[in-house]
Amino acid sequence: MLKNLENFKVLGLNDEILQAIERSGFEEPTSIQYKTLPLILEGRDLLIEAQTGSGKTACFAWPLLQKISAAKTSEKNTIQALVLTPTRELALQVSGAFYRFGEFQTNKVSVLTVIGGESIEQQTRVLADGVDIVVATPGRLLDLIGQKVLSLSDIKFLVLDEADKILDLGFAAELDLVLQEISSMRQNLFFSATYPDKVLDIARRISATPEHLKIEDDTPTVENIFQRVIEVNKDNRGMLLRHLIVQEKWKNALIFVSSKTAAGNLAEKLKKTGVRAGAIHGDLSQPERNKALSDFKDKKIDFLVATDVAARGIDINKLLLVINFDLPRSPADYIHRIGRTGRAGEKGLAVTFIGHEDQEHFKLIEKRAQINLEREQVAGFELTGEAPETVRGAAPVKGKRKSKKDKARELAGKKS
Ligand code: AMP
Repeated sequence: MLKNLENFKVLGLNDEILQAIERSGFEEPTSIQYKTLPLILEGRDLLIEAQTGSGKTACFAWPLLQKISAAKTSEKNTIQALVLTPTRELALQVSGAFYRFGEFQTNKVSVLTVIGGESIEQQTRVLADGVDIVVATPGRLLDLIGQKVLSLSDIKFLVLDEADKILDLGFAAELDLVLQEISSMRQNLFFSATYPDKVLDIARRISATPEHLKIEDDTPTVENIFQRVIEVNKDNRGMLLRHLIVQEKWKNALIFVSSKTAAGNLAEKLKKTGVRAGAIHGDLSQPERNKALSDFKDKKIDFLVATDVAARGIDINKLLLVINFDLPRSPADYIHRIGRTGRAGEKGLAVTFIGHEDQEHFKLIEKRAQINLEREQVAGFELTGEAPETVRGAAPVKGKRKSKKDKARELAGKKS
């Protein structure tokens, strides 16, 4: 066995999983894997505070595959494990991890992805044949439970992946219904980047004695990321982007915008100038989204324009660059976005465009995220003009601000 595989083996993983790890080229367990794998293999209930990009998927994928394969009987399968994710993309990615790491198992573990936008009949047929692990988003899962083609009464493992996002996306009621369907004797694994009260409430309901693990990563993901902030007028961002793509030979970038329409529009504009680009957002059908993502992964397109929701949880190996074409709403989203690059020890670059109207908001993001970044400007695309006047607080008091007439008079006075 390769020396580095020993580091995985000591955590309790068996040869079949180790073979798959070897093929993935992983050299060393990540911090979260070191800390959680032995406990998960032991059967403990855990609340794990972990960011995306930390290697968290493997923390539940490896133990679940190993345990379920070992316990398999020749009887027709009942569902052994449920993994709930906030988005379809994350669900597909998690299933992908199960397939990849389960490849060398003799007793194969079967996995079904239960997500909206794909054929419910097909999912029903596969369920009828028996499935070990269901990876699902809450909505479609409830449809299938309602139709009585899927029962969770015997599951032995429950994983909530990105639990905070499940609640942020408004799935609290759905989650509640799913929990009512589940047996009480099971191992619970809870992954979340943050633990606000609403997440803790759910966690307490699911498990009486969970252990709370915070992963202090020695190399926080964002420290591997070089962050640039470029000041540019809003109307010039498209041209600047095009310029930088050519000038700095940018490739393989995820570009964030703030709306579905903006995603489609920017991708179209880029395509018109000969840039290989695609979009991923909530107005596209699931097959269209899958295609955009696989085109990007297969390098058939160089740029993927995305909204925050569509990009949540997307894992793309070795993403070199993230561009904030529009600013994210919150500091957490900023970190989440730029965390798409510089993953698992790789170096990454994040570029943020800001105009006059973004200055205040970006300062707030910097303050909350405890970063302080230099501003740069690109020759030919300098930020020009004045910052638009912003009025804070209550409606402006009449008479305090200059009326249009006053302004016109002033101007006339200056000219004369
Ligand atoms: P995740 O946080 O689960 O989304 O994983 C982020 C990325 O890290 C994925 O591309 C994983 O395949 C990869 N990864 C997981 N474990 C390791 C490891 N031990 N060494 C290197 N990369 C890893």
